[in-house]
Amino acid sequence: QRYVYRFGGGVSDGGKGDRNLLGGKGANLAEMASIGLPVPPGFTISTEMCTRYYDEGGRFPDSLRDEVAAGIAHIEGVTGKMFGDKADPLLVSVRSGARASMPGMMDTVLNLGLNDQTVEGLAATSGDARFAWDSYRRFIQMYSDVVLELDHGAFEEALEIAKEDNGYFLDTDLTADDLRKLVAEYKALVEQQWGKPFPQDVHDQLWGAVGAVFGSWQSERAKVYRRLNDIPAAWGTAVNIQAMVFGNMGDTSATGVAFTRDPAKGDRAYYGEFLINAQGEDVVAGIRTPQYLTKAAKDAAAAKPASMEEAMPETFTELAKVFDLLETHYRDMQDIEFTVQQGKLWMLQTRSGKRTAKAALKIAVEMAEEGLITREEAIARVEPQALDQLLHPTLDPKAVRDVLTKGLPASPGAASGAAVFDSDTAEKRAAAGDSVILIRVETSPEDIHGMHAAKGILTARGGMTSHAAVVARGMGRPCVSGAGSISIDIKARVMRVGGREIAEGDIVTIDGTTGEVMAGAVPTVQPELSGDFGTLMGWADEVRRLKVRANAETPLDAKTAREFGAEGIGLCRTEHMFFDAERITNVRQMILAEDEAGRRAALAKLLPEQRSDFVQLFEVMAGLPVTIRLLDPPLHEFLPHEEAEFAEVASAAGVDIDTLKRRAAELHEFNPMLGHRGCRLGVTYPEIYEMQARAIFEAAIEVAEKSGAAPIPEVMIPLVGTRRELELMKIVVDQAAQAVFADKGRTIEYLVGTMIELPRAALMAGEIAEVGEFFSFGTNDLTQTTLGVSRDDAARFLGVYVEKGIYAKDPFVSLDVEGVGQLIELAAERGRKTRAGIKLGICGEHGGDPASIAFCEQTGLDYVSASPYRVPIARLAAAQAAL
Ligand code: PEP
Ligand code: MG
Repeated sequence: QRYVYRFGGGVSDGGKGDRNLLGGKGANLAEMASIGLPVPPGFTISTEMCTRYYDEGGRFPDSLRDEVAAGIAHIEGVTGKMFGDKADPLLVSVRSGARASMPGMMDTVLNLGLNDQTVEGLAATSGDARFAWDSYRRFIQMYSDVVLELDHGAFEEALEIAKEDNGYFLDTDLTADDLRKLVAEYKALVEQQWGKPFPQDVHDQLWGAVGAVFGSWQSERAKVYRRLNDIPAAWGTAVNIQAMVFGNMGDTSATGVAFTRDPAKGDRAYYGEFLINAQGEDVVAGIRTPQYLTKAAKDAAAAKPASMEEAMPETFTELAKVFDLLETHYRDMQDIEFTVQQGKLWMLQTRSGKRTAKAALKIAVEMAEEGLITREEAIARVEPQALDQLLHPTLDPKAVRDVLTKGLPASPGAASGAAVFDSDTAEKRAAAGDSVILIRVETSPEDIHGMHAAKGILTARGGMTSHAAVVARGMGRPCVSGAGSISIDIKARVMRVGGREIAEGDIVTIDGTTGEVMAGAVPTVQPELSGDFGTLMGWADEVRRLKVRANAETPLDAKTAREFGAEGIGLCRTEHMFFDAERITNVRQMILAEDEAGRRAALAKLLPEQRSDFVQLFEVMAGLPVTIRLLDPPLHEFLPHEEAEFAEVASAAGVDIDTLKRRAAELHEFNPMLGHRGCRLGVTYPEIYEMQARAIFEAAIEVAEKSGAAPIPEVMIPLVGTRRELELMKIVVDQAAQAVFADKGRTIEYLVGTMIELPRAALMAGEIAEVGEFFSFGTNDLTQTTLGVSRDDAARFLGVYVEKGIYAKDPFVSLDVEGVGQLIELAAERGRKTRAGIKLGICGEHGGDPASIAFCEQTGLDYVSASPYRVPIARLAAAQAAL
C-alpha cells in the first residue's frame, strides 16, 4: 500500500478529488501544482497512515521509511538542495492537513533541517547570517514546543532577557551574534528539560515532527473542535512535507493570507492581509498587526502602512491573477496562503474559505448570477443552520451607545454580556446561565471552549484572519478583534480602555459588524429579510416539496413566523394560552371544581378568552392551515407547588387552602410525562375539550364572517395510543362543531386528526387512520417513549452518550432515524394504506433540524413544523433535501 504522494516540479500524484486521502491541504497543493501554479515541491503522507499509526500503537511501518526517502529525494531533485547538506541545505515545513479544515487546531513545524552545521550553510547561501540564525532559533523553539513538548515559557523568557540585556525593543533588533548566543541558550534549555541534546540528525528531526503532527490529531483542542463540528475521529490527518520558502528574507519578501472575496460581508473584492519580512505563522498568530492587501481596503480603513498593491505592485498583479484563476477553477471563494521570497510568489495553500452566513448568502447568490455556479449549487452552498446568524437582532441604530473603543469587525452580529477574561470562566458562567463576552489579548486554539460558551469575543490583538476571527466566524459568534486600545490586567481582572475600567462581570456590548465596543447593554432591532436572503429563499422555495409551518401560539410569534415564510401553523399548543396571569385563575377554578357543573362554570369563563386567541391566530394565518392541539399537560402543572404560594392561589381561586392542598395532593403524579395528560384528560373530562373545540369553531366562523375567507382548522388530539381514544375525542369535537354551526347558522370545513407520539400509535396507525384525518408526528414524545429516555432529565447523561458514540447526536435535537425513524416510516405507510393521501407532518423539535428534515423528505411527509426562527432554516433544508 502506498502512503506518500508527491507534488511540485511538474509532478502531481494527487488532485483536488483526493481530499479524503490527502487531506484538504495536500489535495489542493497537488491540484495547484497540476494547474501550473508556483507551489514549493513536497509530498503528502496520507490520512490512511494516520489511522494505521494509531491502530499500531503510535508506530510507523518500515515501508514508510523508503517512501519518505523517495519523497525527500523528489524535493531535492526539484530544488537542487540536499536535506542535511552542510553547504546548501534543504529545509522543509511539516504541516497537518485533515479532510475538513481545522484552523490552528493541529501542529506545524517550520525550518526543519537546521542544525549546528546546516545553519552555517544557510548563512552562506543566503548571504544573511542574521536570517540563518533567526531561522534556527525559531526552529528550536517550535520543535521544542510541538515535538518535544517542553515548557515554551522558558524559551520566551530567554528571548525577552536577550532583548533586555541589549536594551532592544523588537525581536528584529537582535543581531546575528545575539541570535547565535540565544541558540546556545535554547540548546542548553532543551538539554536541561529533555535530558538529551537537541536532535542534530535531520532525519530524526523529520520523524519526530511527523509523529507530533499525527499525535496532534488526538490533542484536547482538536477533540473539542471535532466535537463542535461533527468531524469523526476516524478520519485522521495527513502530513504535508514541503520545501521551505521564506517571507522573511528582507523587504522584497512577505507572507500573507487572502480571500478571493470578503469572508465577512461577501463583497466581490480581494481581501486579505500580509506582512513584509515575516515568516508563515506571523500573520495568523496575530502577533504583529498586518497590512492590507489592496489600496481600496487600506484607504477604507484609513490605515497608514502601504498595502501590498502599493508596496509590491508587480507581485500583487500576479497574485490577483492567481486569485481569479483559483476561484474559477474551484468555483468557490478561496482562502489562500502565499509567501513572496525575494520577489518570487509561492502558493502555500488554497481551500474553500470559511465565511459568515451573510457572506455565504451573498457569494452563493452572486456566483449564481455571474454564471459561475447553478442555482441548485447556490442553494446547496449555504448551511441552513448558519442562517440563524442572520435572523437574530442587531444593535438598534438609534440607541445611545457608550462607545469605549473600536476594533476590527471580525465576525458580524451584536452581543451583550458580562465581561470575562479567560475561557474557563467563560465556560463556567455560561453554564450557570449568564451571557458572557470573552475578552482576550489574543485567542489561541486553547480558547475554543470559551469562545463557544461566549455570546461574543473581543481581542486586543490580531487581524481579520487571526485565529479569533476565523473561529468566531465559523461558529457564528460576533467578534471584534485587534482592539489595540484596550489593555487587559488578568491579575486584577479588569480591562482598561481610554482611562476607564471594566471589571470582570460588568456588562459590555460588542458589534462585530462595525467593530465597536460599548459599555453596558445596547437595545437591538430585528434583521431585514430581503436582498440576498430573499433571493436565495425564493430559489429554495421553488425546488422544495415539503411545506414549512410554524409552531406558534401567540399572534406575535405567528406574525414572525409568517415573515419568515411559514405556510401555516403546524402546532398551536393551547396550554400556553392558559399560563397568562389572569387566565390561570379560571384554569385553577376549573381544576379545583369538585364536579362537572363546577368545571363547566369555570370553563365558560375561559371560552371567550380562548375564542379571541383563535380569532387572532386565524387572522394572522388568513387562508393558511392552522393545527390546534387540545390540552396536553397534566392538570397539576397549573397548580402551585410551593407552600408559600398556596394561600395566595387559594384566595384568588375562591377556595380554602385545605381544599387546594388536597386537590394538589390528589393530582400529584410520580411520572407526569406518562401520567394523566394528553387525550387522557379529554377522555376523563370531555367538557375541557368541548370548550376548546367550541372556541375554535366560533372563532373560525367569526373570522370567516369578517374576512370572507374561512380558515380550515385542524383539530389535533394529543397522546393518542388507541383508535377508540381518538374516536371518543372526535365525537366530542364533532358535537361541538354541530352545536356551533347550528347556533351560527353556518358551517365551515375542519379536520380532526391526531399526533403520533407513542409507539403504540405508530404501530396501530392503520386503525387510527380510520378515524384520524391527519397525523402529525410528535417526535419529542415519540423519542422519549421509544428510547425510554425522559426528555426533561436526559441532559444529565446524554452528553456522555454522544461523546461515547452511543448516539451520533442528541436524539432530541436530531431525529434518531435508525430507531424512531422506523416507527415514523411504518406509521406513514400504515396510515396511507387505510386513508390514501392522509396528510402527514412533523411538529417535534426535529421539524427544524436539517438532518431530520432530510429524513422527512425521504419519508414523503407533507410538511415540517418548526419554531418561528427556524422556519427559514427549514425552508432551505427542505430545498436541499429535494435536490
Ligand atoms: C411532541 O411531543 O413532539 C410535541 C410536539 O408535543 P409537546 O412537545 O408539546 O409534547
Ligand atoms: Mg408531545
